[in-house]
Amino acid sequence: MSPFEHGEVFVTDDGAETDLDLGHYERFTGVAARMTDSVSSGRIYSTVLEKERRGDYLGKTIQVVPHVTNEIKEFLKVGDDEVDFMLCEIGGTVGDIEGLPFFEAIRQFSHDKPRGDCIFMHLTLLPYLAASGELKTKPTQHSVKELQSIGIAPDILVCRSEHPIPDKEREKIALFCNVRPDAVVAAYDLNSIYEAPLAYHAQGLDQAVLDAFNISPAPQPDLSKWEDVQDRVNNPEGAVNVAIVGKYTQLEDAYKSIKEALTHGGMSNRVKVNVEWVDAEVFDHEDAAPHLEGYHAILVPGGFGERGTEGKIKAAQFARERKVPYLGICLGMQMAVIEAARNLSNVADAGSEEFDHEAGKKRFTPVVYHLKEWVQGNHRVRRNEDDDKGGTMRLGAYNATLNPDSLVAKIYGSTAIEERHRHRYEVDIQFREQLEEKGLLFSGMSPDGRLPEIVEVKDHPWFIGVQFHPELKSKPFAPHPLFRDFVRAAKEMSRLV
Ligand code: GLN
Repeated sequence: MSPFEHGEVFVTDDGAETDLDLGHYERFTGVAARMTDSVSSGRIYSTVLEKERRGDYLGKTIQVVPHVTNEIKEFLKVGDDEVDFMLCEIGGTVGDIEGLPFFEAIRQFSHDKPRGDCIFMHLTLLPYLAASGELKTKPTQHSVKELQSIGIAPDILVCRSEHPIPDKEREKIALFCNVRPDAVVAAYDLNSIYEAPLAYHAQGLDQAVLDAFNISPAPQPDLSKWEDVQDRVNNPEGAVNVAIVGKYTQLEDAYKSIKEALTHGGMSNRVKVNVEWVDAEVFDHEDAAPHLEGYHAILVPGGFGERGTEGKIKAAQFARERKVPYLGICLGMQMAVIEAARNLSNVADAGSEEFDHEAGKKRFTPVVYHLKEWVQGNHRVRRNEDDDKGGTMRLGAYNATLNPDSLVAKIYGSTAIEERHRHRYEVDIQFREQLEEKGLLFSGMSPDGRLPEIVEVKDHPWFIGVQFHPELKSKPFAPHPLFRDFVRAAKEMSRLV
């Protein structure tokens, strides 16, 4: 998936690289997503082909129905025995060619279940014509018709709309689409996505779902958690300006979880976090200061490839020297280490093997090198230079041990953490001693002590680089400690400047 087209790649604890939607589910439900929570057409087809090669179908003719649809149904069932409700989203638009096998599979799935065990909710759009001042219900009617023609009758319609839906329109939709009027639920545009749970409650979505399942009367929901979140979003007591110095700055979705985690950090500090996207490439060859002055904190996110890295290294230098709070994530940590090696430790040509591999020639002293072997839980993982690019990353949750005297141990309130990874390259521990002498402390390490997980600058108010992705675990009602404290440091900085 290209970050330019699809936005960020969301990584689960068990190491699945998935769509960013799964991140939203995790942030809203608080339930950690797993590999078995998301699937693509590609994965379904490749499993069917593998099974065919293995002879699992015993020489039968392989068809979309039943082989592909059965595979989708099997996928749906994985892990469903531990839960009361299972929510299954089919992405895309009704009528997409890619979606058809999935629609057929969920139709069959509901058919296989006892009556009332499965309901269908359909998300539609009610466009507003400003010229005539009317909401158009036709697109909704059409997509419902399309669904009905493949045997799926929605129980609930969630209608995206910029404007309130007049009763007359609501009744029309209900009648023509064959749903009850109180099952036509408005989804109005909101200031913040975190207002959605309360907004849906006000529109009666929760009641409509319970009604459709015949669960009533039901106890009143406790929404105090979301009321607190909404209050914090809507009533900040100040604002901080944070620069994200990255590569995919044209597409904000490429850093979706970072943006959300910063919002969560803002909520816990009761400040609004204004994020500015700064393209690192712009100051690859010039002074970074004019581009970075005035921000209360700088964040360098993860990334791949050499483009823009000289600018990121300069951003790390600027933050270190000017004592501006800095959070380096994955590539952002590697850049901070390269910066310290070059400017504090006199390794003038310090760099990452990633960039030499890309360029096909050796130019740098590899302070960051390609990892070929590591420990995951109780076993050893090995990789080759020429393994498939798709399968060579250190992915998913890994433990780290923190130095009890470090800033990060204070922030986490613990010396044992578990965070999600997605990278091929690692900071080389050979440089530890010389960098620590100059004030770049290796304050978090893999439990075997071989892989640097966190670095921090001594005598700096807040300079931390992490090899993992803390943003993936932040929730609105449980902001990640690193983001909470990073925004706190930015808030303090905003009082100084
Ligand atoms: N490109 C770097 C690596 O593979 C960093 C990856 C990242 O930032 N997620 O190690």
